[in-house]
Amino acid sequence: MITLALSKGRIFEETLPLLAAAGIEVLEDPEKSRKLILPTNRADVRVVLVRASDVPTYVQFGGADIGVAGKDVLIEHGGEGLYQPLDLKIAKCHVSVAVPAGFDYAYAVRQGARLRVATKYTAIAREFFAQKGVHVDLVKLYGSMELAPLTGMADAIVDLVSTGNTLRANNLVEVERIMEISSQLVVNQAALRLKQAQLRPLIDVFAQASPKN
Ligand code: AMP
Repeated sequence: MITLALSKGRIFEETLPLLAAAGIEVLEDPEKSRKLILPTNRADVRVVLVRASDVPTYVQFGGADIGVAGKDVLIEHGGEGLYQPLDLKIAKCHVSVAVPAGFDYAYAVRQGARLRVATKYTAIAREFFAQKGVHVDLVKLYGSMELAPLTGMADAIVDLVSTGNTLRANNLVEVERIMEISSQLVVNQAALRLKQAQLRPLIDVFAQASPKN
């Protein structure tokens, strides 16, 4: 049995064509079903639905053999115990710094101001501002980062940006791009050895079927 860990939403949707290329069809729609384990048309393949930030943990500890996780999530997790053979080039977005429309970020940075930054991505943000030599106090949040500057709780946020619509809707502007993000295939290191005959062909098909840029 091969267990694949996916998160609902963009990653699930954009992984479906890769599974289809391998002849795998998920038999239930996660938006309609409340099941956490979804069967596929192959008796030896199943999908488990977990939070995006839990995918690396499930794969690391063998709850799943393989998974699809964003680079953002992998950096925050640390990648320990995971084999990362493939950039799937799906669910693309970037990690950016954003501030309220009226806030002069460049000036604040030039002045050496100490910034309070709200984010779920504390490892990425810490590394980025340390490299820049900007002093920051990081406030860890688990969602709705956009709200932090609007309520005066933070000067800036570090968050994922795709179309920019969420920032615009909340009167925030992107002032710096920290890194490009796409989803990676992650594999449990022991499973890769023990289930090589099933996993290798799957990894090869994903490599061929994933978008080319
Ligand atoms: P957008 O409005 O298209 O810029 O999307 C921004 C919102 O979607 C933010 O709340 C992000 O956290 C979330 N988001 C964007 N891209 C991704 C992604 N690839 N994976 C997970 N969340 C994302």
